[in-house]
Order: sequence, then C-alpha cells, then structure tokens
Amino acid sequence: MGRPRKVLSEQAQKDIVATQAVIDDKTKDVQSLRGMRDTLPQDQKYWQFIYSKLIPIVEAYGFSRIDTPILESTSLFKRTIGTDTDIVSKELFSFIDKNGDDICLRPEGTAAVAKAYIEHGMFSEVQPVKLYYIGPMYRHEKPQDQRFRQFHQFGFEIIGDRSPILDVELILLVTELYKELGIGTPNVEINNVGCKKCRTEYKQALLSYYKSRRYKICSNCNDRLSRNPFRVLDCKEDRCIEAKEGAPNFVDYLCDECQGYFIKTLEHLDALKISYNLNNYLVRGLDYYTKTTFEIWSSNDKGGKHALGGGGRYDYLIEDLCGRDVPACGYAGGIERLIAAMKENNVVVPEKKKADVFLAHLGEQAKIKSLILFEELRKEGVTVAHNLSKNQLRSQLEIANKSGTRLVLILGQKEVLDGTIIIRDMDSGGQEVINFDKIPTEIKKRLEKLNQTHKEVNL
Ligand code: AMP
Repeated sequence: MGRPRKVLSEQAQKDIVATQAVIDDKTKDVQSLRGMRDTLPQDQKYWQFIYSKLIPIVEAYGFSRIDTPILESTSLFKRTIGTDTDIVSKELFSFIDKNGDDICLRPEGTAAVAKAYIEHGMFSEVQPVKLYYIGPMYRHEKPQDQRFRQFHQFGFEIIGDRSPILDVELILLVTELYKELGIGTPNVEINNVGCKKCRTEYKQALLSYYKSRRYKICSNCNDRLSRNPFRVLDCKEDRCIEAKEGAPNFVDYLCDECQGYFIKTLEHLDALKISYNLNNYLVRGLDYYTKTTFEIWSSNDKGGKHALGGGGRYDYLIEDLCGRDVPACGYAGGIERLIAAMKENNVVVPEKKKADVFLAHLGEQAKIKSLILFEELRKEGVTVAHNLSKNQLRSQLEIANKSGTRLVLILGQKEVLDGTIIIRDMDSGGQEVINFDKIPTEIKKRLEKLNQTHKEVNL
C-alpha cells in the first residue's frame, strides 16, 4: 500500500500557481518578443557583405543615404498606406505616448522618406532627388517562415520625376545588386495599376466580377472586397486563386496615358535586356501605388513564397501629404529574405579578418603593460587578439592556437623588468627575445614577410 497522498490546502495550491507564474514571467524576460530576433555575431558577416556591396552600387547610381526616425506619427501611415490595408488596419505597432500622441513603429520606409522630402524642402533641390535607406521595420504579423515582426529593409526612392525610364533604372539597379550579391539573376514580375481614373473603372469591374463569386472566396477576401478589392487578387488561398481565373485584367482598363506609360516601361526593359514576367494581378498591398508595380523574386524560390522585395510608382503620395504634385517611384527589399536566399545559393561571404598577432601576458604588471602595447599596435594598424581574463600562459597559447594566429607576443614578469618581449612563431615553435620598444617595427616587418611568402605560395 502506498503512502497516502498529501492533500494540498487551497492556499498551498494558490502559492504553487503564483510561484510558477513568477518563474514564467522571469523566463519571458530573457527571451526575445515574438517575431523579434537577435542578429548573432556569426551572422554579422552576411550583413557586412550586403552593406559592402549595396552602398557603393547605390551611391554609384547617384543615391544619397537618409535615416529617418523609427517612431513616427500613426496618421502618416494611415494617410499614405491607407486605413484599409492589412499593414495599417492589423499590423501597426501603434500606441499612445506619454503626451497622448498616437505614434507607431514605422512599418515601411517610403512614407517616412516622403515626409522627410517635404519637411526639408527638397522640392528646391535638383530633381529627381534620389534617396536610399537601410533599417528595421515593424509589423504585427503572425510570425512564420521568413516573416518577422521586426525585419530590415533597404529601400531606394527617386522623387520628383514621372518618366518610365526611372522605374526601369530602379529595376536595373535592383537586379544588378542581387546579381552582385551572388544569388543570380532574379525574376522580375511587373504590372501597371493605372492612375486614379483607370483604377476607379477597374475597381467597378472587379466588384461586379466578384459579386456572384463571393461564396467562392475566403472570408478574408470577402472582407477585402468591401475595404480594398484589389487585394483579393493577391490572396494565396487556393480557392481565391481559382476564383481569380477569368477576373478582369488591369491592362484592359488602363487609360491611354497609363497604357502608353506601360508600353514605354516594357520597351526600356527590353532595350536593357532585362527579362520580366507580366503579372496582371500584381497589385501590392499598399494604397499609394500608381502605374508601375513590380516584385523581385529569387530564381531559386520555386514555390514563389517569399518575394525579395517590391516597388513601384507612387505619383500621388506627396500630393496627398502636402498638396504639391511630386511624382516618385521606389523599391524596398527585405534583408532577412535576402540572407536566406544567399544561404540557399551557398554564397560564400568573407569571414571576419583573423588578428595579426596574439598578445599573451604573465603577471599583473605584464597585464597592464600588454594593454598599453595593444593600444600602440592598434594605432599602427596591427590587429591584436588577447584575453585579459586568462592568467596562465598555457591557456592563452591554446586560444592563440585555435584562432590560427601565426605570431604570438609573450610578455612575462622577467620581460617587463628587462624591457623586452618574446616573439613566438606558432608554426615552427621558434622563439626570439627582442627589445620592447622595437615591437611595432619588428611586428610589421614580420607580417609583411609572412604575407609575401603567403602570396608566393598561392601563385
Ligand atoms: P513590402 O514593404 O510589404 O512591399 O515588403 C518588401 C519586402 O520586405 C518583402 O518582399 C520582404 O522581403 C520584406 N518583408 C516585408 N514584410 C516582412 C516581414 N514581416 N518579415 C520579413 N521580411 C518582410
């Protein structure tokens, strides 16, 4: 017979639940919020590589960098992206701040750049004004594969001109950038969603097409029909894709001007030998697009699940914000998606540079003197690895060995008193004592020699 089970009092049970809640709460404190991620040291090389390619290319195309605040007024995005879009109606990280202002974490970059253009009177600069940005964006979406709540975008905006050659310049820049980042020639999907006039007519045609098909599409799309009918064409649900077959085509509703614009855009793309797929259902999720819309997909993304980025023309956005007629076009690409595509394509990115020398110390005085030497060598352009927490020489040499550093400087108590230092070659195991003051010159000489031998071996 087992021991009788002890019945816990009501209070004891409450105490256990309360303790568990405290533990759960504390665990939450040491975990990232849903959809937010750390970028760990081992992944930084991808980010560095992207910046090292992106910045020179985009600056060569004449763009200047702009950094806008992460917090903006919520109404900026309501007025530009549109209150009926998913981004604004469902996904904004918005809140009332201590002054009672309705503010939010920016969900995208274009509206903020347009705001900056107006705020800083860039109308008076030579047009078009070409700006680029890189930074985090926030959308309260359901986190899933390659979809996060904090993600990063780079974006290019060309503001102040309505010529189709600029849309094509953007597409050229973007495709060349992706090629240089090693993911091959990406797929370009393109459409033209017209101006205010043709959009109104197309909207009517779309509504009457779906009137008899409401029961065939998902409940989300039924909702979209009344709020933002174009988005029905974007839905990835099988039943909505099926119902879309036979839907009116945007191209058939374009006015003469938009049609001419579309033809010119495609002609320019042909002239530049940029391949594209016409996608008459490419509407994009933001209200501000007019005329050209395009998306860029990795050629490896066979399932067509994760666009690398998208863009298009937004000729009314600035006018809607400040009343001045300033046409513009832009592109935004996701960095996390790009890194995923790079990894899929096995793109080799440069590793963090190995230190030139490892500086080991033995004893308190040597520790301090080694820090002085570290700083001196750093200023001379020599990269030095060291570990001030380890006091034993053996453990320091083990670290040096693992890091693959060929030269190690050893500063012990005796050397501090003598004004010398030991240089050890980790490959041969040979050691030499040299004058402490001669270290920078001596190290540089040896590094040069090692580099020379390395080059000869690799010839
Ligand atoms: P959009 O601003 O919606 O046109 O998105 C442009 C690009 O940003 C997309 O093609 C993705 O590469 C990236 N992106 C947008 N939303 C997310 C997200 N929630 N998580 C990761 N990347 C995203």
